[in-house]
Amino acid sequence: MKISVPKETHPGETRAPLTPDSAAKLVKLGAQVEVEAGIGAGAGFADAAYTAAGATVTNDRKALLSSADMVLRVRKPPVEEIALLKSGCIHASLLDPFNEKELIQKLAERGVSAISMELIPRTTRAQKMDVLSSQANLGGYEAVILAARYANKIFPMMTTAAGTILPAKVFIIGVGVAGLQAIATAKRLGAKVTAYDTRPVVEEQVKSLGAQFFKIDLGETGQTKDGYARALTEEQVQKQRDAMKKTCGDSDVVITAAQVFGRRAPILVTAEMLNAMKPGSVVVDLAVENGGNVEGVVYDQVTDRNGVKIAGIANLPARVPLHASQVYSANLTSLIEEFWDKQNINFVLKPDDEIIKGCLVTYGGKIVNEKLAAKPN
Ligand code: NAD
Repeated sequence: MKISVPKETHPGETRAPLTPDSAAKLVKLGAQVEVEAGIGAGAGFADAAYTAAGATVTNDRKALLSSADMVLRVRKPPVEEIALLKSGCIHASLLDPFNEKELIQKLAERGVSAISMELIPRTTRAQKMDVLSSQANLGGYEAVILAARYANKIFPMMTTAAGTILPAKVFIIGVGVAGLQAIATAKRLGAKVTAYDTRPVVEEQVKSLGAQFFKIDLGETGQTKDGYARALTEEQVQKQRDAMKKTCGDSDVVITAAQVFGRRAPILVTAEMLNAMKPGSVVVDLAVENGGNVEGVVYDQVTDRNGVKIAGIANLPARVPLHASQVYSANLTSLIEEFWDKQNINFVLKPDDEIIKGCLVTYGGKIVNEKLAAKPN
């Protein structure tokens, strides 16, 4: 079985879908692994390291794609490259499936079996394949580093001969995987951290990291069976904004990481709340790629609003590309290992397996995923 790995082409994408270490694992399974020259340049992996791992390196991207039984990528394929793939080719990448219906239709028409890595189920068995978690974790870390870079003060408390410096106050809104890592990172830097999430189960996790949980009584909120937040009513969102305004005003750093799976991110930090913040403070919006949690955030820019810096930097994991590639590649490799037939040296796509059922979006010429048909709640 030939596994082909083209270089990412999206501007600013530094991550590699496959590291040399993972390539070696796939070669050991018996796969023929071929990568495009320069695949690891952004993340610090030389072509020679792939060759040493037993992969071949090519400059012929078209031939690489058209000979593939399986293609691995970080991001969705450029639409013009779909026609290069063989019918029956397995394609595993992030696909942004709720916003890319046309692309998915084209993958189906081409007979490609497309796996959307965003849709890997959040189950214990699939945890090692969960790219949303592996990347969000690094995004949460990087958000704090970015905030520290732009803040006009340090994070830790310091008692010096020149007086005492008080710790920075950091408020984290949305405590999923990214938010939890943001709490842990801000705590490591010595900040005083407060966090809020609509899912009540999060309170214990926040406290176990030594942060304070900010309580707001919104009535029924809860979570879906996959552990995702439910969308709030407009009335609940307004109540939440009113409650959070004072805490935003008291904070030196606000980090937002609130998402509702398959929907635009809710706007939680409004212009009114930004007006309440002190000049010199910083807001980092981790939800910017999904529309943003902060009113007026500018995609991939750091803007200044009356002295408050608003960072809407996209793709934060790509700022730590070595580790982001390491874990993304490990996720893909775990998926391949899980469904690898050692005797026939083949990835066996099992459409009825609960993991494949969750993440397979096209198969046998059709769009097959239930989540794409029904808008998630
Ligand atoms: P996510 O990126 O979808 O959302 C981030 C956070 O935003 C969530 O905690 C959500 O509750 C919160 N949020 C949504 N609306 C909000 C609002 N109005 N105000 C404040 N917060 C709001 O979430 P995620 O990081 O992908 O993780 C979702 C859940 O899935 C978590 O409970 C996580 O522990 C769980 N999870 C389970 C597994 C597994 O079992 N294998 C793997 C990964 C994640």
